[in-house]
Amino acid sequence: VSSSERYARQIRLPQIGTVGQERLQQSRVALVGLGALGSVSADALCRAGVGTLVLIDRDIVELSNLQRQTLYTQTDAERGELKALAAAERLRAINPDVELVVHPDELHCGNAASLLEGCDLLLDGSDNFAVRYLLNDYAVAKQVPFVYAGVVSTYGMSGAILPGQACLRCLWPEPPALGETETCSTAGVLGPAVSVVAGWASSLAMRALLDPDFGAEFTSIDPWHSRVHHMRGVIDPACPCCQEQDHPWLEGRRDAPTAEAACAGNAVRLPGAAIADLEAVALQLEGAVENLQCTPAFLRFEVGEHEVLLFASGHRLVRGTSDPARARTVLAATIGH
Ligand SMILES: [Zn+2]
Repeated sequence: VSSSERYARQIRLPQIGTVGQERLQQSRVALVGLGALGSVSADALCRAGVGTLVLIDRDIVELSNLQRQTLYTQTDAERGELKALAAAERLRAINPDVELVVHPDELHCGNAASLLEGCDLLLDGSDNFAVRYLLNDYAVAKQVPFVYAGVVSTYGMSGAILPGQACLRCLWPEPPALGETETCSTAGVLGPAVSVVAGWASSLAMRALLDPDFGAEFTSIDPWHSRVHHMRGVIDPACPCCQEQDHPWLEGRRDAPTAEAACAGNAVRLPGAAIADLEAVALQLEGAVENLQCTPAFLRFEVGEHEVLLFASGHRLVRGTSDPARARTVLAATIGH
């Protein structure tokens, strides 16, 4: 399939044209979080022919994801595939011309610089404010456009943080406290509301890649109640992030992403030191655990009713409990720490 045929309908748009299409194909975009919003955005940008997609997600596919996470299938959930790997497989089948860089990992202040390096745009598909504020810090510090999005219940919001314009902290100097906002776990989420908000975010992303200076606004959308509200982004002269260059999430002085993932359900995530030799750990565990699987990026096994994922980067995921103490006990009993 020739490239011009694949993209004919979008090249025909005066807003894109052949010049815009080439620009998209030369662009590198990081998708941080491949849940509901990330699924829709990754699909849109892959089909649009964005040259390189950097896929960052630390979770595995669960049955309760399939109602809205459009990249995944029943089989992915049954196998407990890592979202980053399942997404890459699906995106490769959709458009093999797009280069995919896959990180089955959590974004945090320690790896943001290397995972996001060279990206022309960051697209938020995360489920927590720590990652969102980390992305805002990075975007402002490195002058990289950042499109954020969030959705819960029947409504959501999306906006573009562009170099020299208002940033997330101009609007909300502090993220809401834990328990202050609804989450998908507590309030539920409407699948089509995700598609609307992620579609909006994907459109903002394409605009920002083609014209990083467009006058950004923040838009809240509730398709169920037919409500759309626009708000202009206004720089706060006292904004610590974009005016005073204070980036505490990026520098690790504020809460790193932790166990509390809004949509993750029955699992605990714990930070840990990087594991240099996963295979050595796997050898030790042989016979003591069930369904042991070792890949270059992670080690997975089951013990009793728990499933454990150890990532080379260091973070650990224990499924089958929401109690951090229980999760630590499971880790202590298997890998010793
Ligand atoms: Zn600001």
